[in-house]
Amino acid sequence: MPIPKPQSWIRATPSGLYCEPGGFHIDPVQPIERAVITHGHSDHARPGHRRVLATPETIAIMRQRYGEGAGGSLQVAGYGGTVSIGDVSVSLVPAGHILGSAQAVINYRGSRVVVSGDYKRRPDPTCVGFEPQRCDLFITEATFGLPVFRHPPDSHEIEKLLHSVRLYPERCHLVGVYALGKCQRLIALLRAAGYDEPIYLHGALIGRTELYQSFGITLGPLLPCAGLTQDAFKGRIVLAPPAALADRWTRRLPDPVAALASGWMRVKQRAKARGVELPLVISDHADWDELTQTLDDVGAEEIWVTHGREEALVHYATMRGLKARALALTGFGEEEE
Ligand SMILES: [Zn+2]
Ligand SMILES: [Zn+2]
Repeated sequence: MPIPKPQSWIRATPSGLYCEPGGFHIDPVQPIERAVITHGHSDHARPGHRRVLATPETIAIMRQRYGEGAGGSLQVAGYGGTVSIGDVSVSLVPAGHILGSAQAVINYRGSRVVVSGDYKRRPDPTCVGFEPQRCDLFITEATFGLPVFRHPPDSHEIEKLLHSVRLYPERCHLVGVYALGKCQRLIALLRAAGYDEPIYLHGALIGRTELYQSFGITLGPLLPCAGLTQDAFKGRIVLAPPAALADRWTRRLPDPVAALASGWMRVKQRAKARGVELPLVISDHADWDELTQTLDDVGAEEIWVTHGREEALVHYATMRGLKARALALTGFGEEEE
C-alpha cells in the first residue's frame, strides 16, 4: 500500500486540527468528542471534551482549573508512551514549553505528522526539554515568528533583575508573570542564579505553583503576600499576574519597581504601554532562531504554521524548498493565560 500524504488524513477545521483516521482533534477550541491536548494553557486546554488524552501534568492542570468540567474521560499518556486511537498511533513527546507540555507525534500507515503545540528550545529547570522528531509534516506555532524576535539568554535577564534589587534596597520589585509556567520558571531561574531569599507570591499564583511542587519541582522558600505590611516587602521580589501590575493591589507594596517577564518585552512600546520600568525578555516560546533551527532538525518536507506571526516562517520554509502554509487557526492567545 502506498504511504498516504499527511494532508489526506489531517486537516484544519473550525474546531481545530483534526486527524481523520484517529477521529480526534488536537487542542480543539470547541467541546468535541475526542481531544489530544498538548499543554495546560487555557487556550489549548479547554473544558468540556468527552474524551481527553494528555500527559499526567496537563491532566492535573486541567483538573485544577476546570474540576469536573475537565472532560468526560481523561486518559493519561506519559512522555514517549504510544497510544492507539482508531487507525493511528499517538505519542506525546516533550515540548519544553511548560510543565507537562508535549508535541503530538502521530503515525498513520508509514506517514508521520508532528504537532508542536507551543514550544521553546532553551533549557528550562521546570520542564523537560524539547525533543525534535523527524517527520513528514511539521505543524508548528510561530508566536515569535519574525527575525526581529531573538530572545536574550535567560541568565542575562535574571541578572538585570537581581542588579536592580541590589540597587534599590528600600523598594520592592514587583514582577508580572503568567500563573502557569512563567511564574515557576522565573522562581527556578532566580534560584539557579543563587538567589535564596523568600519570594513573595500574589494569591492567584499559589495554586499553580503548588501543582508544580507536587510534581517534584523544587522552588525554595515562597511566601504569600496576604496580611503583610509594606515594610515586609522592602528589598524583596514579589510575583503577581501581569494584570495586577496596574491595580490597587500594588498599594500594599513600598514604591514597587514594576517588571514584567515576557517575550513581548522585546517590543519597547509594549513595555511602555504597560508602565513597565524593568522589562525582562523571558519567553516560553521559541524565538526566530529556535523556530528555524527546529525546521532544520525535524527534516519535514512540509510545514504548517498554526498561530502567531505566520507569514515570515512560511516564507523562510518556502525559500528552503519546503512546502509551507499558514493555517491561521483562531482562538489561540499571544501568550499564556
Ligand atoms: Zn502555551
Ligand atoms: Zn499557544
